[in-house]
Amino acid sequence: MTEPVVTRFAPSPTGFLHIGGARTALFNWLFARSLGGKMLLRIEDTDRARSTQGAIDAILDGLKWIGLDWDGEPVFQFARAERHREAVEQMLADGRAYRCYASAEELEEMRSTAQAEGRAPRYDGRWRDRPASDAPEGRAPAIRLKAPTEGETVVDDLVQGRVVIPNKDLDDLVLLRSDGTPTYMLAVVVDDHDMGVTHVIRGVDHLTNAARQTQIYQALGWDVPKMAHIPLIHGPDGAKLSKRHGALGVEAYREMGFLPAALRNYLARLGWSHGDDEIFSTEQAVEWFDIGSVGRSAARFDQVKLSNLNGHYMRETPDADLLAAFRTALPFLPGGEAAAAKLDATGRWDAFALALPGLKERAKTLVELLDGARFLTDERPLAMEPAAEQLLTPEARSLLAATHQGLAALPEWSAADAEAVVRRVAEHAGVKLGAVAQPLRAALTGRKTSPGIFDVLAALGREESLGRIEDQARQIQKV
Ligand code: GLU
Repeated sequence: MTEPVVTRFAPSPTGFLHIGGARTALFNWLFARSLGGKMLLRIEDTDRARSTQGAIDAILDGLKWIGLDWDGEPVFQFARAERHREAVEQMLADGRAYRCYASAEELEEMRSTAQAEGRAPRYDGRWRDRPASDAPEGRAPAIRLKAPTEGETVVDDLVQGRVVIPNKDLDDLVLLRSDGTPTYMLAVVVDDHDMGVTHVIRGVDHLTNAARQTQIYQALGWDVPKMAHIPLIHGPDGAKLSKRHGALGVEAYREMGFLPAALRNYLARLGWSHGDDEIFSTEQAVEWFDIGSVGRSAARFDQVKLSNLNGHYMRETPDADLLAAFRTALPFLPGGEAAAAKLDATGRWDAFALALPGLKERAKTLVELLDGARFLTDERPLAMEPAAEQLLTPEARSLLAATHQGLAALPEWSAADAEAVVRRVAEHAGVKLGAVAQPLRAALTGRKTSPGIFDVLAALGREESLGRIEDQARQIQKV
């Protein structure tokens, strides 16, 4: 039996779950789920100033929102410092690490000399072989890895291939600072080992770390997990993803009204592909995911494509499910809370549900859906968009008056009966249907575009519809 796969997502809390982090989490999740393994979560909270409860919650909330779960309880790195120190004790005992008493000034000098000579700054190993008796009085040492000076360190990466780094390019890195705090490089290795991680999947910006971490594994006599360094995400213009491109936290995508399923689909395609498939369910992605199909070139994040994909998901989502998703998302959408309160207060949720099939055809995001539904929450007299106002010519207002008369006389209020009235009014006036329907749309919604006008009438109901028409019609003749 092959050993079960264990992956991990190891974010450092920064205040939000970055979209790139969400993609890394997704790849770890897909990989683990596709092989019946586990994905663990480790919060790398060693930067105490940044690692507030709020910053940690933002990550957990972001993962939950996007629909990624993890196995077991999250592991908190800071709490494991004692264990990290223990591992260093082992390396010291095995002669794989040493105490370095170099002062800050000495280190600075090494840096500036290297800089002046155009070399990468490197620690020169001056305490590597010095006896303990040389230790300066009263100075706490840092502990450094006694890294190999010859040969090479190889990272056999599942995505990047065989990466070979000459050991002479890797200096003796610090494992424990002189104040006894573990470095990131050390903590990651000890934690991954203790958590039983078999596969480390993360951004390619960690590739050099992978070589250094490999040396730590070797010094500890531990197996190195398999590594997969996935390409970074770039903007559509090819430049590294920045805020300008939408390099935001996932909560920003929630506020922009994206559906988690669409975002999962989109993020899965950033660097990974399954033939030409662009649209697939999470179940399919789990079934198909193969780390070997992750490419090496940077993936391009294109918010227009994401919106189009989201629009597709909205149209394909059954109305009842979309309604539920909308209601859940509403508190996070701009103006959503006020709209929810209005829909509650006016009892127009039924009207919203009636209008939804028409609304979702025109909306790429839940924000657009909310915007499209604004006619349901607007109050009389409606504010008219300029384009809608233009439709309300004196002739149009007369047609509205006739329409009002016809609609008011209907014994039953239905889309079909309303349509019959509008057709009759148009026929009687000798104009095309649109000449009546367009001003009617303006009167009912304040806009030039909306769901099908007869659906709007049905959604608003008799009283509100007649009221709105009356507000815009010329000389209503009461019947
Ligand atoms: N905490 C690191 C980060 O947020 C990731 C460390 C890792 O995956 O090894 O970039």
